[in-house]
Amino acid sequence: MNLENLRKVDSQVAEQIDLELKRQQENIELIASENFTSLAVMEACGSVLTNKYAEGKPHKRYYNGCEHIDVIEEIAQKRACELFGMEHANVQPHSGAQANMAVFMAVLKPGDKVLSMDLSNGGHLSHGSPVNFSGLYFDVAGYGINENGEIDYENVRKMALEHKPKLIICGASNYSKIIDFKKFREIADEAGALLLADIAHIAGLVAAGIHPSPAPYCDFVTTTTHKSLRGPRGGIIMCKEKYAKDIDKAVFPGLQGGPLEHIIAGKAVALLEAMQPEFKEYAKQIVKNAKALAQGLLDEGLDIVGGMTENHLMTLDLRKTGKTGKDMANVLERVGITANKNTVPNDPQSPFVTSGIRLGTPAVTTRGFKEEDMHKVAKIIASAIYSSDNENVLADLRKDSLELCKKHPLYS
Ligand SMILES: *Cc1c(COP(=O)(O)O)cnc(C)c1O
Repeated sequence: MNLENLRKVDSQVAEQIDLELKRQQENIELIASENFTSLAVMEACGSVLTNKYAEGKPHKRYYNGCEHIDVIEEIAQKRACELFGMEHANVQPHSGAQANMAVFMAVLKPGDKVLSMDLSNGGHLSHGSPVNFSGLYFDVAGYGINENGEIDYENVRKMALEHKPKLIICGASNYSKIIDFKKFREIADEAGALLLADIAHIAGLVAAGIHPSPAPYCDFVTTTTHKSLRGPRGGIIMCKEKYAKDIDKAVFPGLQGGPLEHIIAGKAVALLEAMQPEFKEYAKQIVKNAKALAQGLLDEGLDIVGGMTENHLMTLDLRKTGKTGKDMANVLERVGITANKNTVPNDPQSPFVTSGIRLGTPAVTTRGFKEEDMHKVAKIIASAIYSSDNENVLADLRKDSLELCKKHPLYS
């Protein structure tokens, strides 16, 4: 990375960026929500566009001098609509949480009812957790997953008919099965609810046609751009044309100030990349790698919530090993594998300790890992968990993980 000027101006920050690059290069990244964006995306994000105020929408700005910004933002909107098959896109949300917040603001009043997946079952904070604005200002009921790790659609239907929510949310941060958007639409219609699909995690798979699309069934689709979609950190809201005005008003002036046009340019680049045939191959490989990792872990005698994954992620259930998610995520970090602790359904441990570890393959797939590499990763993970007290074993495993990183260089 070219940090020529930064090095002269601020050596402290430059040094930490260098170290962070080395950390990314020398560790196996299995955090399911992370990825490595392209240098092209980063160049757009690091451009002069950061200097420009552009409150409002293309051609309806509160500031002058937006003629180039307008073109860029329109390109991003058009690509989002094309890629996901939706009628309208707002590419300004600073993050996935803010994209969801804007949908709430556009169609709900404080106190209105919402039905979404419970956080402890794989939902997201911004879908109605009591500690988030969505749970503080709205009346939220949460559905869960059954012992097979699947959404119990009949239960969702019962809850929808009982609670009569104004909005139903499907989409999750930790769900390893295919989401049946059509079933959610049927339930929403029966209950008279609007339907939001939050595809933050699976956006790359949806874009590539590897996961069914929510477009034919959902009133609103929100996503992050930095997970499997492999763009810069940010959010997008898509909707039917009839909600376009309300959504745009909720984003600005409702929730945000000036849009991050440099990030919007990065989103445009990432969306173009996601339209290429190579991206389809990439998304296919993400799922192949996830399945290979899951099979490897199962073969090592470890449990996975819901068994085999159908997408890019899975949660290791550590209960029978007697170890916790918190401890094992730290052990994995020591052997060069980055992952996050996560609750499992009916977790006996607190959310700070947990009995699970969430693992995902978008990032390692970007750097070229294939199935045989994932089998090795599974072996490293299992050995680290089973021998978490054995310093010699851990030291050897660190060498193994470094070898895999060297086999698939990143940003070099
Ligand atoms: C990651 C995620 C978000 C939030 O994204 P941020 O950019 O961190 O705000 C929202 N919804 C789901 C389902 C997610 O997985």
